[in-house]
Amino acid sequence: MKLAQIILDIPTQSLDSAYTYAVPDELVDAEVGCAVLVPFGNRQAIGYIVGLEEVDEADPSAFAALGLDPDRIRAVQRVLSRSYFDELGAACAQHMSEEYIAPLCSCVRLFTPPGGVPRMVRSGKYWRLEEPQIGPVDDRWVRLGPAAEGFEPKRTAVKQKAIVDALASGELRVAELSMELGSISSVLKTLSDKGVIEIESRRRLRGVDDGAARATRQGDRSTAFVPSAKPELTKGQAEALDVISAAQKRAAGDVVLVDGVTGSGKTEVYLRAIEETLGEGGGAIVLVPEISLTPQTVARFRGRFGDTVAVMHSRMSQGERYDQWDLIRSGAARVVVGARSALFTPMPALGLVIIDEEHEGSYKQDSSPRYMARDVAAWMVRERGATLVLGSATPAIETLYNCEKRDNWHRVVLAERANGKPMPKVEVVDMAREFGSGHRSMFSRKLTCALLETIEAGQKAVLLLNQRGFASFLLCRECGFVPECPSCSTSLTYHEKGSVLVCHHCGHKEPVPPVCPECGSPYLKKFGAGTQRVEAELVSVLEGTGAHVVRMDADTTSTKGAHQRLLEEFASSGAAVLLGTQMIAKGLDFDDVTLVGVINADTMLKLPDFRSAERTFALIEQVAGRAGRAELPGRVMVQTYWADSCAIQAAATYDRALFLKDELPKRKLLRYPPYVRMANVLVWGKDEREVERTARELSVDIERTVSEQAGGSWTVLSANPCTLSRLRGTYRWHIVVKAPAGENVSGVLLPLFRKRKASKTVNVAIDVDPHDM
Ligand code: ADP
Ligand code: ZN
Ligand code: ZN
Repeated sequence: MKLAQIILDIPTQSLDSAYTYAVPDELVDAEVGCAVLVPFGNRQAIGYIVGLEEVDEADPSAFAALGLDPDRIRAVQRVLSRSYFDELGAACAQHMSEEYIAPLCSCVRLFTPPGGVPRMVRSGKYWRLEEPQIGPVDDRWVRLGPAAEGFEPKRTAVKQKAIVDALASGELRVAELSMELGSISSVLKTLSDKGVIEIESRRRLRGVDDGAARATRQGDRSTAFVPSAKPELTKGQAEALDVISAAQKRAAGDVVLVDGVTGSGKTEVYLRAIEETLGEGGGAIVLVPEISLTPQTVARFRGRFGDTVAVMHSRMSQGERYDQWDLIRSGAARVVVGARSALFTPMPALGLVIIDEEHEGSYKQDSSPRYMARDVAAWMVRERGATLVLGSATPAIETLYNCEKRDNWHRVVLAERANGKPMPKVEVVDMAREFGSGHRSMFSRKLTCALLETIEAGQKAVLLLNQRGFASFLLCRECGFVPECPSCSTSLTYHEKGSVLVCHHCGHKEPVPPVCPECGSPYLKKFGAGTQRVEAELVSVLEGTGAHVVRMDADTTSTKGAHQRLLEEFASSGAAVLLGTQMIAKGLDFDDVTLVGVINADTMLKLPDFRSAERTFALIEQVAGRAGRAELPGRVMVQTYWADSCAIQAAATYDRALFLKDELPKRKLLRYPPYVRMANVLVWGKDEREVERTARELSVDIERTVSEQAGGSWTVLSANPCTLSRLRGTYRWHIVVKAPAGENVSGVLLPLFRKRKASKTVNVAIDVDPHDM
């Protein structure tokens, strides 16, 4: 008897939903990765096959060994789809479910095509199978047939004549013809019976072949598909490629970090590595941060590999994503460039995974399964004997740590820009001093001067307004003092209610001091400003210069294509200033940007998050790399209230070693990654008391589990309200668990969460290796 392990796709909070079913002989196309229909209780459910095995029916012990009763095994009713993933895909889902303590079915779903899976929907008392909303679509194309030559339609056959005339200049889709001519199916039949026309069904690629967009897209394509010339590699690039090639030859899941300054030509290294993979018959997955997945980025890959490049990101429609997914599965696309989720596309013979800007927070998913794409990719390449290439100018501290500690993680350095130009000079502007000398604008005198000079010279400036996180903290406008927790050394969060300062890590509370405890100034104020306010001020700074201001933030980029339009607007203006949030730090590559200003390097530095210094350092380095990329030299200005802070000083001198020398001992002392692994257990719900009670109970359970099963070097910071303790009407608490690096955090906590009964009113989630604290 053939048995299948099936993960049921049922909405449940329980982690395990794997069941064994018999596969009847007639279901010949049941394979691992297929969606199937199975009986479940007194209804039906959809599940995914994650394993198949043959068991000897005549041997009851075989069943007993599996803990099964042969009489009670139910049978799969129908196979609903082709296979979405292979055994290793199933194993990856299993691994993620355990590693991130997430329901198996949510992990399996990552591997299925967008919108392309059947579902069970409830109608009244019954459940009914709903076929996939999205599937392949075919177009019917018409062209002239062999009998077209000399064919003369009757004078009254107006439509026949119109069709034949239209086709004279080439083939057309039936849909396009009927848009012009109305109902034509009988006419088409007559003509095709006579052999005057031929009709053929052909797969349509949504987003690429769509009628309306076709003409312009083809225009797009012809430029995008011009093969780009291959530059001669720099010495650094060649060395990087050697290390990657060696790793690819070993095919043992090595990880290579390309640690290269902005403009050092990391993309060229990726392109060559992909070329090698393709040459060996392998496929490649390239992940880039969602925000930098622009047509330019895609064009760089298409320019080298043409039509074999598929694209996947969340701004595409489900139909478009489905078609790209299908191209990958069929083997027609051998390279996919996409956001985080592209990691789970069914690339046959995967040989290479590339993660560009690997330090980016967007590689961590912030809903279940809360996975980190970088870590899942490392697991995946190991299982598949492929290679992972990570690239960044500011690698994550964890990545640098792994390169030191692990034999199969290698780091190669590209210290210089590919065009040999120096990195722009970075000036730090001390805002506390500006404030002290009576200057109250968000734009320091220095930055104002530099802006005016840039505009006068007909050049461009980029201004970054740092807006990460909305936790608010207090800041002394005079000396830059920020109240911190005495035991956690993260800044205290300001709570309007009760006017208190709270540490969200340990719960420490203190009243808001009336004046700055450091310098006695009364200007102890909440920190933060919106882009709109800054824009208004910028416009007045630039008054009379005629400079064009482009604002780019969540508001102005909410519509499809807006991001692109704004960038084009900026590019096509002469003297102009682009003002934006973090999203501008990436992928901007304009030759005439000569000034980059960071209006407030601080909001991030003082966020109550252990990564805030690292993020500040990275952001400044990234944004600095946007200046002076071509002939004109660039300069960078960083406004800050903490001009002496190590993160800012080190970033200004491009001195990562200096930054790490300051940061690593702190991480070690305060027990943060990379020296420990953390898990953040979140508890939330509408009822404040119930949330608190659940969190406290859970915290006791966790403490017990940890003390029974883990070493004494683990710590549990018991239940506390989150930084954002109230969000959209829900109350949020959390429990933080810290374990020594390399320990199996999930393994220890998993049984506890497996056992937990789901509650209808209080939600519990666990975030292993959290990105935001
Ligand atoms: P990074 O991704 O490291 O920031 P890019 O890949 O964007 O750098 O490269 C920066 C610029 O240098 C690009 O315009 C690219 O075309 C160019 N470039 C890359 N490699 C070379 C090379 N070997 N010779 C000349 N120019 C190069
Ligand atoms: Zn002060
Ligand atoms: Zn604290």
